[in-house]
Amino acid sequence: MMSNNDILELHDKHFKKFITREQIHDAVKRLGAQITSDYNASEVVFVVVLKGSILFATDLIREVNLPCRLEFIRAESYGTGMHSSGKVNVTHYTGMDLTGKHVIVLEDIVDTGLTVKQILAHLEEMNPASLKIATLFLKPEVCKGTVSTHYVGFEISPLFIVGYGLDYNELGRNLADVYILHETP
Ligand code: 5GP
Repeated sequence: MMSNNDILELHDKHFKKFITREQIHDAVKRLGAQITSDYNASEVVFVVVLKGSILFATDLIREVNLPCRLEFIRAESYGTGMHSSGKVNVTHYTGMDLTGKHVIVLEDIVDTGLTVKQILAHLEEMNPASLKIATLFLKPEVCKGTVSTHYVGFEISPLFIVGYGLDYNELGRNLADVYILHETP
């Protein structure tokens, strides 16, 4: 990984700094306050979608002042690279019982909305009391209202981003800022 402040190289691509860690921090704080106020002291189960949502989840739950539980699932939709395979495979890591619980799915990014739609269908079968989605990034021009995203950090253009949990072929998840694909450095 080569880096000169605002441009970095991952595998065969260049990326340019797009959203700073300070902006992310502010958005996460805002979402945490909103969730705290909306759930009015009720217990919430956060279902963290691995791997990309891990940084978002660990920061967000510290901004939520409610009794909360954590569960983990994995949804694989992008095999490799930047294009969706169209197929989503959902795996559980914990013996979840969501019956009668208030559930918030924590997603890193909603692009076409196919992944989160299938996650919702899967979790609805467990009869939660309520089921909402919090996503740090949303590409509204791509998902065009396929799913209702209740808590959104940033609405972005339909370009590929990395950092803060999001990868390009598994690299870039550890970046504190978010970078966008930039072909000519
Ligand atoms: P969807 O099913 O909404 O099209 O895609 C959701 C998944 O695709 C996300 O959870 C993420 O893994 C991946 N994805 C979509 N857009 C991006 C992007 O801009 N950057 C990265 N790194 N992954 C993305």
